[in-house]
Amino acid sequence: MKPYLADAAKTKEILERHGFFVKKGYGQNFLIDPRIPEGIVRAAGLTKADTVFEIGPGIGTLTQYLAESAGRVIALELDRKLEPVLAETLSGRDNVTLIWGDVMKQDLPRLFAENGVDGPVKVVANLPYYITTPILMRLFAFPDLFSDLTLMVQREVGERMAAPPGGKDYGALSVSVQYFSDPVLALSVPPSAFLPQPKVSSVVVTLSKRKEAPPDCADEEYFFSVVKAAFLQRRKTIVNALSSAPQLGVTRETVTDALQRMGLDPMIRGERLSLDQFAALSGLLREQRADASSR
Ligand code: SAM
Repeated sequence: MKPYLADAAKTKEILERHGFFVKKGYGQNFLIDPRIPEGIVRAAGLTKADTVFEIGPGIGTLTQYLAESAGRVIALELDRKLEPVLAETLSGRDNVTLIWGDVMKQDLPRLFAENGVDGPVKVVANLPYYITTPILMRLFAFPDLFSDLTLMVQREVGERMAAPPGGKDYGALSVSVQYFSDPVLALSVPPSAFLPQPKVSSVVVTLSKRKEAPPDCADEEYFFSVVKAAFLQRRKTIVNALSSAPQLGVTRETVTDALQRMGLDPMIRGERLSLDQFAALSGLLREQRADASSR
């Protein structure tokens, strides 16, 4: 079955025939250029051995391509008004399981178990941009469920994910994403590839699971609190930023001492610290906080 939906006239015809009105609030921008779903499938390196989890199939455009290349597709869509559309566009595709629900509220381990999926799945999605970061954090909360992720995101967000330390794009998102994966910007996508056209440019980013284990930071939750606090006021030195975050339980002296032990200038800002340095710093701060509280 050849995919046929990545086309402006066909998309309009289907939407009109079903009386479907696009909901901006759900981030509904449907692909209309076949080169993009083809590029996504290539970037994801799909084979018939793969099970794919697609978030937001919309009218089924990308889903048709995924179903051709992967062994199985589990597609989760929030907007139930798309039911008659998807019934038509995915009809006869036996390897697609459609599930209705909100990705932020689903019990994902249960969803996969109930659908007989064992082993990690590949996530491939043209994401709804209004919840890109929450979706990512939710997926990263279950590192054993997912292998690689191939995602369409707003260009600026993709650039922040892949940014190295030191630049203006480097922030809490870069550190979090790079903690779990190696992000690569695979494909630039102009607004004209979608209907309706978004105001922003997009990029397909591949997040392959890290080849090496993430740096040892003893306590992930504390590590992420340190990273968040360091970038909350990015113009501040890291000593000021961390000592003014009550949830970390550290003083100026503790942070200064930890930085000196790491051979770093106490006047340094968070944006200059690498992922490994954040891990080491959060480990030291956590120890000193624990020391202090046990005294
Ligand atoms: N995959 C289609 C394509 O590429 O043409 C549509 C992608 S569109 C950018 C995003 C899709 O995500 C929409 O269909 C929207 O209804 C759906 N969506 C929005 N919020 C969602 C949520 N919380 N959970 C699941 N799907 C959601």
